[in-house]
Parts: sequence; C-alpha cells; structure tokens
Amino acid sequence: SSAQPGADRLAVYQSERDQAYQRRMQLIRDLPHAVRLNELSVVFQPKLCMATGKVHAVEALIRWHHGRLGPVGPDEFIVLAEETGSIGLLTEWMLEAVMTQLQRWQAAGWYIEVAMNVSTRDLENAGFPAQVRNALERYQIAPQSLSLEVTESALMRDPEASIVNLRRLRELGISLAVDDYGTGYSSLATLKSLPVQILKIDKSFVLNLAQNADDAVIVRSTIELAHNMNLQVVAEGIEDEASLNWLREHGCEIGQGYFISRPLPVADLEKWLQAREKPVIQGN
Ligand code: C2E
Ligand code: MG
Ligand code: MG
Ligand code: MG
Repeated sequence: SSAQPGADRLAVYQSERDQAYQRRMQLIRDLPHAVRLNELSVVFQPKLCMATGKVHAVEALIRWHHGRLGPVGPDEFIVLAEETGSIGLLTEWMLEAVMTQLQRWQAAGWYIEVAMNVSTRDLENAGFPAQVRNALERYQIAPQSLSLEVTESALMRDPEASIVNLRRLRELGISLAVDDYGTGYSSLATLKSLPVQILKIDKSFVLNLAQNADDAVIVRSTIELAHNMNLQVVAEGIEDEASLNWLREHGCEIGQGYFISRPLPVADLEKWLQAREKPVIQGN
C-alpha cells in the first residue's frame, strides 16, 4: 500500500529473489535430463581470417530449450552445471555433437576447424584427454580439426590443476585458446606457462572499439603482447565494419561477431557459407 512504500519495495524484492531462486533450483534439477529429453542443440558461429576474408573455423555454442521455460542461455546454465557436477554430461554431449558434424562435413569433402568451449571442471578431470582422443578416433577426425577454448578467469583460478590436461590435449595435436582474455587478471608468467596457441580478446573490449579510445588502447596492446608471445589473436564481438577494419589494420588474425554472422543452426550455416564462398559443400 502507499502508506508503506518501504514495505512494498521489500516485498517486491523478496518475491523477485524467491523467483530467481526457484528458477535456479528448477534449472539445476532439470539439467541432468536435458540430454535425454532432446532439449540441447548446437549453433555455429563463423570465424573469419582477417587477411583473406575466408572462413577460418566455426565456434560451436550450446543451446538449451527448456520444456517449460523456453530458451535458457549458456551464460545462465553453464555455471550451474559446473557447480552441481552436470557439466561433464554437457561436455560429453557437445563433443559427440561436434564430432558428428565434423564427420558429416568431411564426408561431403569439406574441411573446417571447429572450436568447442570447455570448462575447467573438464580440465581437472583426469579422464578428459582420453575422452577427446577416443572421440577423435571413433569418428576418424584429425586433431587439427578441433580446437578447445577455456576462459581466462576459469584457467587462472587454478592453473596447476589444468596444466597437465592442457599439455596432454596439446600433445594430441589439438589447438588451445584462452577465451575472454582481459577479464581474468592473468599474470604474464602464468600465461606464458600455459600450452596455448590462441588468445581470444574478450568482446567487452571489442564491442565499442571504433568509438572508445580506451578500448582501442587495450586491444592494441593485447595484440602486441600476444604476438610477442607467439600467440595467434582472435577478436570476438565484432559488431560493425569500423571495428573489423580497425582490427585487420592492427594485425588481428581472426575475427568473429554479429557483423560477420550470428551463431547459426547447421542448415543456416551451410547456406551462409555457400552464399559467401561458392559451393564448398557437396551433397548433404
Ligand atoms: P564465449 O565462448 O566467449 O562465446 C561468445 C559469446 O558471445 C556467445 O554467447 C556468442 O553468441 C556471443 N557473441 C558472438 N558474437 C557477438 C557479438 O558480435 N556481439 C555480442 N554482444 N555477442 C556476441 P553464448 O552463445 O550465449 O555463450 C556464452 C558463453 O557460454 C560462451 O562464451 C561460453 O563461455 C559458454 N558456452 C557456450 N557453449 C558452451 C559449451 O558447449 N560448453 C561450455 N563449457 N561453455 C559454453
Ligand atoms: Mg568461446
Ligand atoms: Mg569469449
Ligand atoms: Mg564468454
């Protein structure tokens, strides 16, 4: 009531907090069943080679369409999966989905690299490199076709726990990327000790690159740092042509973002590629 605005606001706050809590609990409870219920899917976002304008690779991103709640974004459910131990199920599902797709594309005579995101929980799991090697063998996929992305903040929480698995994955011939670079406070010493080949600049620095001088300084020095460490640079979150051109001129090797393409379901990706680069996919 208007007599007690403070109490009203508190009630609204409490009910919003309760709803958020209920939603979290429901997602945590339903996550382990998402696979069986066929609620998961993959979308693919192209990565462009800046020098040639050709598609260099695609990044696989998971999607969850919850039966009652509709689409739930990975930024919301991946962290819950990590906290509750169901991340392994999701990673396994994703690995199979990526391998299946790579095999279909290769059968059609089309070779492309697919990047997949993994959690530090996966990297702390001693069986993970064998799981990946086994999947590559079963689907007869060259390890060069796969790359794995791990966020900087996750890696930096406990680099020692991940490094053994990172080395094993690298020995298989898989390329490794530090994702969302710039948000995780890496020390250069730690970064240097990791067996990674690719540094992905976080989209928060790229989104307003063409308008924001501070972001431009950060991105420019990050590109320089990466090159001095012999790392390849990927920029994510390119939303306009000015940023794309700026990045190309400043030596960024690979670009990704809505300006190039949104993440697409596989059929749309194939259409997008065909419209763009002449038919490289034969058959189906
Ligand atoms: P990420 O790996 O850094 O992926 C980039 C995110 O930025 C994606 O969000 C993508 O859709 C979005 N994005 C791409 N281009 C643009 C752009 O130009 N502008 C803006 N504003 N956004 C752009 P998405 O798909 O919601 O994924 C969020 C995060 O969830 C990913 O960030 C990744 O850390 C995690 N994730 C996604 N799929 C998986 C998965 O299969 N396993 C694991 N462990 N994590 C995943
Ligand atoms: Mg990524
Ligand atoms: Mg990222
Ligand atoms: Mg991210």
